[in-house]
Amino acid sequence: MGNIGGVNVDAAMGAVSDLGKAATLTEEEVKESSRQMRLYEEQSKETVAPASSEYAQRLAKLTDKFRKYDGLDINFKAYLSDSVNANATADGSVRVYSALMDLMTDEELLFVIGHEIGHVKNGHAGKEMRTALALSAARKGAAASGTAVGSLVSSELGGLLESVLNAQYSQSQETDSDDYGLQFMRKTGGDLRAAESALRKLAELSGGQHSILSSHPEPGQRADRMAQLAKQE
Ligand SMILES: [Zn+2]
Repeated sequence: MGNIGGVNVDAAMGAVSDLGKAATLTEEEVKESSRQMRLYEEQSKETVAPASSEYAQRLAKLTDKFRKYDGLDINFKAYLSDSVNANATADGSVRVYSALMDLMTDEELLFVIGHEIGHVKNGHAGKEMRTALALSAARKGAAASGTAVGSLVSSELGGLLESVLNAQYSQSQETDSDDYGLQFMRKTGGDLRAAESALRKLAELSGGQHSILSSHPEPGQRADRMAQLAKQE
C-alpha cells in the first residue's frame, strides 16, 4: 500500500490527506512531497540521462560546485527529452532537459540554472507545490470512496506532477528569478551576456509550446532587461 516502484509514499502523502492541512504543511513536508513527486516522475514519465551520457557528464561538470549554494541543498539531473525545458522543485531538484542543453552554451545553461535556483530560493517552487497539494487533497476528498488506496496514491502523485508542470509563475516571480539568475552569474564569475543570449534563444523558438516559455513577460522583453542590468555594476 502506498508503495510505488519500491518507494514508500505514505509518509509524504499522509501529511496531505485533507485540504485544510495543505495550507499549514511545514517546509520540510512540502520538500518531502516534492521529493516523492520527483521519484514518481523519474520512474514513470521522464528518462534521467545515465551517468555515462554526455548530457549527465556536461551537467555534472557545470553544476558540481553548486550542490550547496545560498543555503540550499541542490541536486541536478538531466532528462533525455525533446522538450526545451528546465524546472526546479521545492526540494532543490533542478532538472535540465537535453533539448535545452543542445540549444544552449554552457554559460547560457548556467544562467537558466541560476534562474531555476531562484525559484527555489525565493519560495516560488514551494508555493506552487502547496497549491498543487491543496488541489490534490481536494481531488482526493472527492474521489476517496471505492478507490483502492494504492491507485489513489499513484494517481495523486500524477496529479501533483501535472499541477506543478502546468502551473505558471507570475510575472514578478519570473522577473525576480531572472534577477537571481543574473546575480548567480555575477557571483560565480560567469559571463553576464549569457543571460540575454539565453533568453533570446528562447524567444526565437516559435509557438510558445514549451513550459519554460509559457511564462510572461515574453522572453524578448526579459532579454532586453537582462542586457540593461548586465551593463550596471
Ligand atoms: Zn522561471
